[in-house]
Amino acid sequence: MIHAIQQPFPDPQKTAIITGDQVTSYGALQATSTQFARLLLDGQADLAEARVAFMVSPGADYVRVQWGIWLAGGVAVPLCTTYPLASLQYVIEDTEAGIVVVSPEFESLLTAYVQARGLRFIVLGREENVPDNVASGVLPTIDDSRRAMILYTSGTTNLPKGVVTTHAAIDAQVTTLLDAWAYSDADYSLCCLPLHHVHGIINVVSCTLRAGGTVAFLPHFSAAAVFDWFEKTANAGHVGVFMAVPTIYFKLIAYFETLSNDQQMRLTASLNTFRLMVSGSAALPVSVMEKWETISGHRLLERYGMTELGMAISNPYQGERRAGHIGQPLPGVGIRLVNDAGHALVAGDASPGEIQVRGANLFLEYWRKPTATAEAFTADGWFKTGDVAVLEDGYYRMLGRSSIDIIKSGGYKLSALEIEEVLRTHPDIADCSVVGIDNDEWGELVVAALVVSNPQLDTGVLNTWLRERMPAYKVPRRYLIVAELPRNAMGKVTKNDLKKMFQLT
Ligand code: ATP
Ligand code: MG
Repeated sequence: MIHAIQQPFPDPQKTAIITGDQVTSYGALQATSTQFARLLLDGQADLAEARVAFMVSPGADYVRVQWGIWLAGGVAVPLCTTYPLASLQYVIEDTEAGIVVVSPEFESLLTAYVQARGLRFIVLGREENVPDNVASGVLPTIDDSRRAMILYTSGTTNLPKGVVTTHAAIDAQVTTLLDAWAYSDADYSLCCLPLHHVHGIINVVSCTLRAGGTVAFLPHFSAAAVFDWFEKTANAGHVGVFMAVPTIYFKLIAYFETLSNDQQMRLTASLNTFRLMVSGSAALPVSVMEKWETISGHRLLERYGMTELGMAISNPYQGERRAGHIGQPLPGVGIRLVNDAGHALVAGDASPGEIQVRGANLFLEYWRKPTATAEAFTADGWFKTGDVAVLEDGYYRMLGRSSIDIIKSGGYKLSALEIEEVLRTHPDIADCSVVGIDNDEWGELVVAALVVSNPQLDTGVLNTWLRERMPAYKVPRRYLIVAELPRNAMGKVTKNDLKKMFQLT
């Protein structure tokens, strides 16, 4: 990516970004990023991997700041725009960022803290006066092996870890997807994802811009606004691309079902014009995939990735997209499954194993956590994802995270994801999440939190229904009916919170 933004773009007039009503061309984006790099440098020759934390709403400003940091030789540390102050402090202090950049709407949240720590504070919109002596300064040469970005993991299982990625790894993550998902300069990507995770910043923003396409940002998410946007995109004749997490598709489906027949038909026709629709970051329930296909005519492309490696496994762009499966290894990404005994599974072995990954897409290190970094790799250099899968007829199927989705109960190892899939086929269950809670007799006890669409649901009757569909040892022993499942910023169920809820009841 860094080399692409250091050179003039082929068509500087072309629209790179649309933020609400504001249109930004590639030429303008590049010019303002370069100016911002000079402002950051403030007369120095090179930021030399200094960390710059930034809290900027998704849009052209976000990209301008990120590219500016890279052009100045710094490490970009995006801050989640919905974090409370304490979480922001954690990231700023953990990365020892010396410069903090904010959009005006976040100024008041951070001013006192940044001043007390004596950090340099740049408020966008008020930083435009680049001193004359630096306005045309030469920018540093950036080697590929440099640290480029620190992204924090979603914090689904533990405190978020700072994942350091080099420019070379970002390049590998982007170029792999450009080919695999056939991005082009005609693409018009709709982005309603946060940008402090790879899903938004790599798959949507960086890939689309690298291909010379256009990214449009939706300022505030609502299902109605997203559908309106789908329609406008189709009416304008754009080549629509949309990527989201399963919870977003879930919300879109629920809203769609409330619309009149006429409205539904109109939206379906709009969605039919899209080039590509992708789901990832958490398991895509088969029911969501099927309903979305009926609504949009698109069989969602489900893929698997992580902060530590970008994307690794994907259903094909052309070819069968298999429901309930994360797909096949992406070109250039090495994948193997390793069983509990430490043996790599051979072709044809359908037993479960940990997904291990090798390739140019991998992160460099966990920030200032050499022990965690060392423990995350095998002696022969494979990254241990902690995710367990099986390989079925050429397609990987996720069983879940070994730490939380693989439940050890009565001598069995059960996949919470498999039990959730069955529960979701029950007509009275809108959503669910399965966890194991500590139990003296069983080791762990299978329990399920349910969001019900019918408050009359009788869990005794549900148990009988489940026993017809799965062995008795997989059937949950306790249920908790909840209005909503606890989720983090990426829409992932925070199962540790759920476990605590069970322990309290
Ligand atoms: P933390 O590491 O802090 O606990 P996290 O693992 O959720 O958080 P991310 O790096 O954002 O942080 O998410 C990567 C994880 O998301 C993967 O390891 C995997 O468990 C899950 N994941 C990603 N895509 C899929 C998918 N298609 N199906 C199931 N799980 C997925
Ligand atoms: Mg993780």
